[in-house]
Amino acid sequence: LVVNKYDGALKAEHGTGRNMAPFVETEWGGEIYELMKQLKQAIDPRNLLNPGVIINEDKNVHIKDIKPLPTVEHEVDKCIECGYCEHKCPSRNLTTTPRRRIVIRRELKKMEIRGDKENYKILLDQFQYDGMDTCAVDGLCATACPVDINTGELIKRLRRENHSPFANKAALLVAKNFGVVVWGARFALKAGAIMNSIFGKHTMTAITKGMKKIVPDMPLWTDQISSPPNLSAINKITVNQADEKVIYYPSCISRMLGSGVEGKKNLMETFLSVSQKAGIQVEVPKNVFGTCCSQIFSSKGYNDANKYMANTFIEKIWEASNQGILKVVIDVSSCAYTIKNMRHHLTDENQQHFDKLKILDCVDYLHDMVMPKQQSIQKRGSVVVHPVCSLQKMNTQDKFVDLARHYAENVTVPVHSGCCGMAGDRGFLFPELTTSATMPEALEVQQRKYDGYYSSTKTCEMAMSAAVNENYESILYLLDEAVN
Ligand code: SF4
Ligand code: SF4
Repeated sequence: LVVNKYDGALKAEHGTGRNMAPFVETEWGGEIYELMKQLKQAIDPRNLLNPGVIINEDKNVHIKDIKPLPTVEHEVDKCIECGYCEHKCPSRNLTTTPRRRIVIRRELKKMEIRGDKENYKILLDQFQYDGMDTCAVDGLCATACPVDINTGELIKRLRRENHSPFANKAALLVAKNFGVVVWGARFALKAGAIMNSIFGKHTMTAITKGMKKIVPDMPLWTDQISSPPNLSAINKITVNQADEKVIYYPSCISRMLGSGVEGKKNLMETFLSVSQKAGIQVEVPKNVFGTCCSQIFSSKGYNDANKYMANTFIEKIWEASNQGILKVVIDVSSCAYTIKNMRHHLTDENQQHFDKLKILDCVDYLHDMVMPKQQSIQKRGSVVVHPVCSLQKMNTQDKFVDLARHYAENVTVPVHSGCCGMAGDRGFLFPELTTSATMPEALEVQQRKYDGYYSSTKTCEMAMSAAVNENYESILYLLDEAVN
């Protein structure tokens, strides 16, 4: 119909293969088809190159040898194995890709049906590291998939199913005592920083590497970790009269890892400074310090802990924001993304509150509320930015680049910028994932020196700093330093 009645083509620019081969002559006409055959014969007289593809005399080849695609998991069953997602995946050069993760799940299913227990076990064991451990569950694959498959959702569910009831209870206990956990982590970071200052800056890296051999889930210390930031700034905010007021939620990452380098302000002090210069009043609610965005639980598949934390967070923020009247600003983009997508984990009542809350990522805040108020600025020279994958998923990458262009003369967005593989804390557990994921971007950035290196998520900044050997910092610093 398409070819004969409408004089159309059977397909776009690719994908003839064997599937369309019986119809190529109908589409192009006998004369051109004959020329194609002669051309193929001239180039490949022994028919070694892709035999049967495009040129095929079998009129039924399109219904022969059809590859079975067994249904495996609802998250990925629509996959047609086209591979469009592969270039997005941070683990593509280390272990495997989203498409291949799905192919392996299908292969496992086929083995199970065949009763091939031996090979099933071998492949399942290999899938643990290649498929499960090194998936950053960042969901970037979904942004390139024509049928919206997020392989990370499958991996999260598999992680969930792998947890024992004891592990789930332990995670819930951590969630319920998160304030104490953050306090303990800050204490451990301080102790580690002291160890490094006494015994040498690589001491903690060596110690944690040794411990990881005994406890595989042990996070590794990196050279980017320093003593935790001083929180006195957010504990002592003075209330000024200002046109606008927002609630500032310092993420737990900022509270633990947000120290400034080389004597600079820490991340929270910088947020307050930027806001003050823009005449925006900031309030930091005291009741939220035992909470987090719940990404640490959701990415690892701890369902009960995730639900508990998501609901607790919304309850506290609902109260702090005066029942959704005040905007709530999150200083780490990946946390903002998690919060904006936590609705399905909430109770009915919290879902109603969630719908009324105005949650802003710091990039939205800086772009929409701060930038318009700052006319007199001193632009930075040449800067390079790392747009984190959460910005891509929130569709705010352009705002981030706009911000950088407003506060710097020249802005480079690396062609190879992509997910750094840090995924909250995955890079601390499997640093080889981050090293592999950041390499193409790092090689590009290292071609020259820049006046500043900026991003909007602390852990991604740490990964990029390690890869490029320069200090990546929050874009908050660019704004703060551009305005006196
Ligand atoms: S892009 Fe989507 S359909 Fe194509 S291989 Fe990847 S997951 Fe499958
Ligand atoms: S979620 Fe991320 S790491 Fe996992 S398969 Fe998709 S792109 Fe790769």
